[in-house]
Amino acid sequence: MSGERKRLPAMWRGAKSQCPACGERGLFRAYLKVSDNCSHCGLALDGHRADDAPPYFTIFIVGHIIVPVALLVERAYTPPLYVHAAVFTILSIVLSLLTLPIVKGAVVGLQWALQMHGFAPSDAADSDTLSNDS
Ligand SMILES: [Zn+2]
Repeated sequence: MSGERKRLPAMWRGAKSQCPACGERGLFRAYLKVSDNCSHCGLALDGHRADDAPPYFTIFIVGHIIVPVALLVERAYTPPLYVHAAVFTILSIVLSLLTLPIVKGAVVGLQWALQMHGFAPSDAADSDTLSNDS
């Protein structure tokens, strides 16, 4: 099928804040606000439905980094609990804020590659059908 889109390159471009179609920078117009259109190829990006997926995957990723590190620090140094609370709370927040745009870009790229939601070839007809059902 000619409309086949490769998933991993699209996710990688999205993770780098690039348009999943052409690779031009500018997927986001703000920290987590996806641009309405790609300024280079004109791809409509406003039809994505990332919703809760990026925070979910971010929590999953950050948790799998923070918990082992906290356990290793506990075994190696046995710091007081307030040190754990201070260090790993701040580390969790910073790591989440750094990871979230990367994950959201990858999710938008995957949605584009799978032609989901607003990236489907006949997205206008699909969204009209969905909105009329409710
Ligand atoms: Zn583009």
